[in-house]
Amino acid sequence: MSSIRILSDRVANQIAAGEVIERPVAVVKELVENSIDAGATRIEVEFRNGGKSYIRIEDNGKGMSPDDALLSLERHATSKIREAADLNEVSSFGFRGEALPSIASVSRFTLRTRAEGWEHGTEIKINGGKLIEKKDCGMPVGTVIEVAQLFNSVPARRKFLKTDPTETAHITYNTRLFAVAHPQVAFRVLEGGRTVFQSPACETLRDRIAEIWGRSLADDLIPVNVHDPKTGYRLTGLTAKPGVGRSTRRELVTLVNRRPIDSRTLGFAVLDAYHGRIQKGRYPPAFLFLEIQPQEVDVNVHPAKREVRFRNDGAIRRFVLGAITDTLAAATEAQRPQAEAPTAQRVVESVRPSMRGSAPSMPLTSKPTPTVPTSLPKPTPVVTTNPTVPAATQTAPAWRLITLLKKQYGLFDTPRGLVMLHLRHADQRVRFERILKSYKESTPPSQGLLIPHPVELEPLASEALLAHLGLINAQGFQIEEFGRHFYRIEAVPAWLAPEQAEGFVRDMVDLLRQRGGARKQSEIIWEAVAKLAVEGSYRRSDTMSEAAVQQLAEALLTCETPHTSPFGKATFSEISWSEWERRFGKE
Ligand code: ADP
Ligand code: MG
Repeated sequence: MSSIRILSDRVANQIAAGEVIERPVAVVKELVENSIDAGATRIEVEFRNGGKSYIRIEDNGKGMSPDDALLSLERHATSKIREAADLNEVSSFGFRGEALPSIASVSRFTLRTRAEGWEHGTEIKINGGKLIEKKDCGMPVGTVIEVAQLFNSVPARRKFLKTDPTETAHITYNTRLFAVAHPQVAFRVLEGGRTVFQSPACETLRDRIAEIWGRSLADDLIPVNVHDPKTGYRLTGLTAKPGVGRSTRRELVTLVNRRPIDSRTLGFAVLDAYHGRIQKGRYPPAFLFLEIQPQEVDVNVHPAKREVRFRNDGAIRRFVLGAITDTLAAATEAQRPQAEAPTAQRVVESVRPSMRGSAPSMPLTSKPTPTVPTSLPKPTPVVTTNPTVPAATQTAPAWRLITLLKKQYGLFDTPRGLVMLHLRHADQRVRFERILKSYKESTPPSQGLLIPHPVELEPLASEALLAHLGLINAQGFQIEEFGRHFYRIEAVPAWLAPEQAEGFVRDMVDLLRQRGGARKQSEIIWEAVAKLAVEGSYRRSDTMSEAAVQQLAEALLTCETPHTSPFGKATFSEISWSEWERRFGKE
């Protein structure tokens, strides 16, 4: 007797179940995707014990005829693709025809469904892959699927499940993502009879986010809408205003063709775009929809489809980075007019705090050029006790200093609210941008080292340095490669002390590696330059007059990225007037 046998469908299903549905949340995902594919406008999800003992998904989609209902439980039965070639063009969510039979093979499974034009619905019960019964039932058009005692027959798998609260958290989080991906669908999620969240159909993504995460998060986001006609890529959605960060990345949500996915490529591109715009170690909340041609993305990498692979990873990364960077630059620009907008306009804004969160409606005004030192800074960077700041603008200041606090902060009255300015961080930002600007205007003179300084780098760092050597050497350095991963620093710019040369080059290489995808490589070098130069900025032991603090604030408002110091710390923190209103309650 041959030892090779064709597996029975039941065994094949149980094996597939191991891949497609690792845990309860995967069941929820597959079934909700099916409901969306079926055109549902209302989906209800109920579960108990983290989904281990019970899951029910109910929808008002197009349902199935009695024959289709039976067929849907056959392995590889799908109404969504016919040939392997179609795999490249799937736009529906499910496509393997594996989910229903797999789930039914490892649970007590009940399907009830009715299609338009049929008098009765069909009810099918399956236990561990075995058909128990099929009968007519009365129900509205749509589908209800119940999954009980998941993995009871597969103890090995059950053992790997996490505690109920952990599985519950996964289900809650993922159903929220689906709700965000499909604002027009009404969602209700219940855990053991208690509503975890619900949202009616929403007209806009912002409304949906407000329903699920609250108005204050929704107000902290600005719209993104960028299309690249060359590649056909499009990025839409909402992203954090400059300066808005959260301590976790749970609200940094990326979707590809409306499917919530985890992608390092997208995650890094977004974080990169916020570099310098939010505090280090914090994450921008964002809900970003990337649309690309179906054949540009391989959703077939993982059976549970959590991750995707892009055909052209680099192009996607550059596109997303560019799209967000441009959106943020425009937003920073739009926020800036408060520094020099005519008084009337500012009053309008301050009496209508509800304008916060709406798309920036103010015209983009041209930035005033901050006073820039005309000569190059001396070898020891600008270290004066009092920061030099550009002369105050002629118009009334948008931020009015109330008082200095603890020699560390300036408290300001502004059209938007109360602002606490961090003197040192703000001073660093202002100096940083000023130095950056002055250096960019001419190449600093270079000084040869008496004894060339050897540097050995690890392979990846070496690669990064080599890729930018021309650019670096054009800025007053002379660095030669003289062996694999070995370099010799022969000259440095005049402002850099020779004994600082090696540390500086290593820092610069680190920056180049961290931000390799940034569009302007030269910026990175300037950044390293300027960071070094601002290390001697204002300290608490220094004194700054009220007038200087007022000027500092005004200079900060003309900066390109005013929200953070060059080291990624917040420069100021605002409590808006509407927030005060919320705290005290309306009259
Ligand atoms: P796939 O989604 O990959 O096609 P599934 O096993 O998830 O495979 O579903 C099999 C088929 O059953 C689907 O192609 C669809 O025709 C039908 N189906 C599943 N769920 C629903 C639903 N909620 N409403 C209508 N039809 C459904
Ligand atoms: Mg499916």
